Amino acid sequence: MRMSRMIIPTLREVPAEAEIPSHKLMLRAGMIRKLSSGIYNYMPFGLRTIKKIEDIVREEISNFGGQEILCSALLPSELWKESERWDKMGSEMFRLNDRNEREFCLGPTHEEVFTDLVRSEIKSYKQLPMNLFQIQTKYRDERRPRFGLMRCKEFIMKDAYSFDVDEDGLNESYNDMYQAYQNIFERCSLDCSPVEADSGAMGGSGSAEFMVKSEVGEDEVVFCKSCGYAANVEKAPTVAEILDKEEMKDLEEIETPEVKTIGDLEKFFNTSAKKFGKTLIYYADGKSVAVVIRGDREANEVKIKNAIGGAVDFELAPLHIIKEVTGAEVGFAGPIGIKTDVVLVDLEIVELSNFITGANKTGYHIANANYGRDFEGVVGDFRKIENGEQCPKCGEEIEIARGVEVGHIFKLGTKYSESMGANYIDKDGKEKPILMGCYGIGIGRTMAAIIEQHHDEDGIKWPLALAPYEAVVVPVNVKKEEHMNAAEEIYNKLKEMGVEVLLDDRNERAGVKFKDSELIGIPMRITVGKNITDGMIEFKLRNQPEKELVSVEDVYDKIR
Ligand code: ATP
Ligand code: MG
Ligand code: MG
Ligand code: MG
Repeated sequence: MRMSRMIIPTLREVPAEAEIPSHKLMLRAGMIRKLSSGIYNYMPFGLRTIKKIEDIVREEISNFGGQEILCSALLPSELWKESERWDKMGSEMFRLNDRNEREFCLGPTHEEVFTDLVRSEIKSYKQLPMNLFQIQTKYRDERRPRFGLMRCKEFIMKDAYSFDVDEDGLNESYNDMYQAYQNIFERCSLDCSPVEADSGAMGGSGSAEFMVKSEVGEDEVVFCKSCGYAANVEKAPTVAEILDKEEMKDLEEIETPEVKTIGDLEKFFNTSAKKFGKTLIYYADGKSVAVVIRGDREANEVKIKNAIGGAVDFELAPLHIIKEVTGAEVGFAGPIGIKTDVVLVDLEIVELSNFITGANKTGYHIANANYGRDFEGVVGDFRKIENGEQCPKCGEEIEIARGVEVGHIFKLGTKYSESMGANYIDKDGKEKPILMGCYGIGIGRTMAAIIEQHHDEDGIKWPLALAPYEAVVVPVNVKKEEHMNAAEEIYNKLKEMGVEVLLDDRNERAGVKFKDSELIGIPMRITVGKNITDGMIEFKLRNQPEKELVSVEDVYDKIR
């Protein structure tokens, strides 16, 4: 491309509205232009890099069997009412009516749409598993759009959805996407860590966020240098809230009392309670932990506000905190009495009445127990883990860093398939709900995160695979025939070689052109100046300070 014909709106001044490096540099390098708060136009350089990121994502998701489709952004309210999210989405969802007063929204995410597609197309287990994805524009009326492409009202997302017949299938699909994400972010030259986004610190988690360590990140992430544990601070349990194996050893001695009455329960608590910080955990038989669950035992319906729960089969694992629940139903709290459930209830529960409580053992439960009246101290203090605290996994000191969430993968289970009736017919002719997973990557946010990790005071330092162009040929003086002719020749030869190359044929001073190429972050620069009379040009890599004088012939070898 000849730069004299391009729109290259680079800026020398730092725009006042931009606070973070990626936002400043994207504006200064002319990659994006603001249309309104949180709404941007992509300019040629910006769009080229966006497309390269999209292609990497597309390739890696397709490698794991993902099939690309494209859905509308304009979505009818009916689907969202079926899943009961029309009201839940609140003011983050852009809503609008058509001329007949039918309600629509601009899709903030597409679980409903994909579930709807699949329920009408998939009938049999033979058609599963399946993974469908799209790269599409999303709309969210963010409370605080900011930091350029990091948090916008309109942004491009890759969203994938997996459909499986059972839990094992879902796990496999989830692990595939996990691997695809690792590949994608590696190819994007991002230093990125998957972190537990559930309370599932100890494995078996149903959700992971891909976090790029960065000072400008809006999330806080716990990292442990010793064992590699990483979790969103929001989700990481403090040591006080989990048990380590050593503690468990002492507790194996504890006898489980008969718990049949409130009195028994009191006795049980008195003999088996152990305090960890402000959290009390009750042991039943050394292998399992008491359960305190609010809800209707008969209906098997359990609703909890701010609680964490998890598996407690200590023979298999120390303690699996598997889910944090905020005002939502607790999916794992099946029939009371089976092993694997523990719930630490948050202090914020105002009304502590009518719990089912007792040991995690069949028959060791009491319905309608009331906090205060029947027992005390069961309330856990689910506080945030702090810098310098012990790692919940290995006990070493943890570190808290800021991170940017570039991707998020999630096991949905049957949440949408059940509410929307996406079923398949099993081998034995039975109708069953499809198991789903969903997987998102913010394309623009990924681009911003790459710039955060690859820049210096002069501009962006694009990794070769992501740069809008790979090389630029700069004739020092376009008025000098020998400069221009040689530059044209090199430019044409590189184009023939398949290099994505620019010719900076603008009638500008060389200094201005150098500044622009550094700012835009073109990885390789070939300068044609006075040495061309000896067949020599100057070769410079963006990520290295030195320039090299090389012959025109050698430069082709270097670039190849
Ligand atoms: P955040 O916690 O930052 O608000 P989210 O958890 O709401 O993000 P998801 O619903 O998990 O986001 O969406 C998947 C991905 O889409 C995110 O990991 C992120 O990369 C991207 N994303 C989400 N919201 C925005 C936004 N407003 N602007 C740009 N990218 C976004
Ligand atoms: Mg959000
Ligand atoms: Mg998030
Ligand atoms: Mg998320």
